[in-house]
Amino acid sequence: MDKRILSEFIDAAGDGNVLYDEKNLFPYKRGSIDGMEEMPETVIKIFHEKSISKVMKIAHKYRIPVIARGGGSSPTGAVVPARKGIVLDMRPLNEIKVNIDDGYVEANAGATLEEVNRELKKYGFFFPPDPSSVSISTVGGAINENSGGMRCARYGVVKDWVLKIDVVLPSGDETSFGESIYKNRGGFNFVDLICGSEGTLCIVKKAYLKIMPFPEKITRIAGFFNTIEESANAIFSIRKNGLNPLILEYADYYGIKAANEIKKWNYPEAHGGMVLVDTDYGENYLNKILKVLEENNAFKIYIPQNEEEYNNIFEIRRIAFAAPGILYSGFIDGDIVVPLSKLRDAIEGINQIRMKNNVYIATCGHAGDGNLHPQVGGNPNNASEWENAKKSVREINDLAVRLGGSISGEHGIGKIKEEEFVGQLKYKNQIKTLEFMKSVKKLFDPENILNPDNFALGGNYD
Ligand SMILES: Cc1cc2nc3c(=O)[nH]c(=O)nc-3n(C[C@H](O)[C@H](O)[C@H](O)COP(=O)(O)OP(=O)(O)OC[C@H]3O[C@@H](n4cnc5c(N)ncnc54)[C@H](O)[C@@H]3O)c2cc1C
Repeated sequence: MDKRILSEFIDAAGDGNVLYDEKNLFPYKRGSIDGMEEMPETVIKIFHEKSISKVMKIAHKYRIPVIARGGGSSPTGAVVPARKGIVLDMRPLNEIKVNIDDGYVEANAGATLEEVNRELKKYGFFFPPDPSSVSISTVGGAINENSGGMRCARYGVVKDWVLKIDVVLPSGDETSFGESIYKNRGGFNFVDLICGSEGTLCIVKKAYLKIMPFPEKITRIAGFFNTIEESANAIFSIRKNGLNPLILEYADYYGIKAANEIKKWNYPEAHGGMVLVDTDYGENYLNKILKVLEENNAFKIYIPQNEEEYNNIFEIRRIAFAAPGILYSGFIDGDIVVPLSKLRDAIEGINQIRMKNNVYIATCGHAGDGNLHPQVGGNPNNASEWENAKKSVREINDLAVRLGGSISGEHGIGKIKEEEFVGQLKYKNQIKTLEFMKSVKKLFDPENILNPDNFALGGNYD
């Protein structure tokens, strides 16, 4: 980068907060997905809210691409600086203020959801959305990905919990959307627009998030099944019967096997997979859930009796997500969502793709809301293996769309699913959506400097 411009950024962000040596840039070149990386030219660490606007004004003046980065855990390439330019490292901006009286927490974009919940726990409250990546997922990243997670079955996704956001526009101008009150009408709902915008519209500085008192007593149950029909029916029945679980998760045979291998455990490697349920509704609901599992022939049911077992059962589900990344030299993320009644067809369809393409897939997911993560293993340095993995993911995405679902439930489109996203819009006769998206992008960011190319906004897919 031109030395003169660099010194303007140093003036704006503070000496020592602007990195340009290759060894310092290295950690910022990728997200959590394999096979996609690009080195930024410069990284600017954001310690103060005021620096963001100053930095954006300079970037805007020189038309330099900027990408905001929280924990960098995006599995879709959304956080990869594809056009080089500047990465804004938001992590240092992490102040959290709890306001119990008015029922919200005020958190800077760089605070992780775990940090937010640690603070809230002191008051007996919590912020419900909980991606499995809570320890790295930041408030800014989770808003921009409209993240979900384990507790979606009960509480929904991040957008359902955001009252207000303070933002910096690509021009450097500052504004805020929404209000830190529980009801608010007037104008378009810009908070919802920003939730899930994948860093393409504005930089989130701070958010005001709704909070909930902590559930009193949680009981955890895991059922293991011989067939996919049985496990899918169990999930379907729990929802259909209004048993409103706190979490309703799934891990398939390959996920359980991977957890056993990695942790040296002995949990049943069930061909129908494991259904994991948390409930906080007391004995009556617990019994009803147990009845559903039994009626659907769960051959083994665990109700953990100590903290270790309570955590280990949960860990099976977590490891199932990461298994291909641990057992293989690379993986491609799957994030499909289907109507609940089609869950069985989706899991069986994934199995058929696995056999047909002879590829490693471990499937887990937030099955309670129809969201599955078929994680496909492969070596990005082995061209034919990697192509086979990519082809398998494309086929899985196709399957989801044909079943009336979508190619992304919570991880977004990023830079790896753009073509399929456009395909989905065409299939559903919704291509107007893309036109509107491009118009909205132009309104916020006429110079196209904020995370350009992400989210099907830069490509030509006519
Ligand atoms: C092991 C693992 C488990 C996961 N589990 C889940 C899960 O259960 N549920 C789920 O929904 N997701 C999950 N994810 C995906 C990911 O963790 C979430 O999308 C997460 O919320 C992203 O947060 P982040 O801070 O890492 O964002 P980043 O990866 O840093 O960024 C994501 C996007 O947000 C933009 N962005 C970041 N901060 C800002 C900001 N302040 N202003 C504007 N734009 C910004 C970036 O430019 C990028 O486009 C998982 C990922 C991993 C690796």
